[in-house]
Amino acid sequence: MTAARDWTAGDPRLLVRTCRSCGAYWYLPRVACPQCHRNTVTTLPAGGVGTCVARTHVHPQRGSSDDGYALVLVVVAEGPTVMVRAADDVRPGHRVELSFVEVDGQLLPYVRRDQV
Ligand SMILES: [Zn+2]
Repeated sequence: MTAARDWTAGDPRLLVRTCRSCGAYWYLPRVACPQCHRNTVTTLPAGGVGTCVARTHVHPQRGSSDDGYALVLVVVAEGPTVMVRAADDVRPGHRVELSFVEVDGQLLPYVRRDQV
């Protein structure tokens, strides 16, 4: 699997999967539904909002000038939990909105606190 097929399919969007038979939602690509095991899988873009449920900070190698980055688990509105980079002020319990940043030529999902 290429990274482009993973979360964005090359566009700035976070893709989730849903089952047309039972209505389940999940994140990682699968050919069959993890709930009912039917192959009635559809991919669609997530709406772009969710809630942070866990946070850590990824530290660079010792001696690097890089400050590292925040990495969070977010439960998106559709239901799946995704791991994405985040703004430094995002904490568990915060409502977040999805955007994208380019890192080393690749689009990565990135969340900021929802200001609404
Ligand atoms: Zn299903």
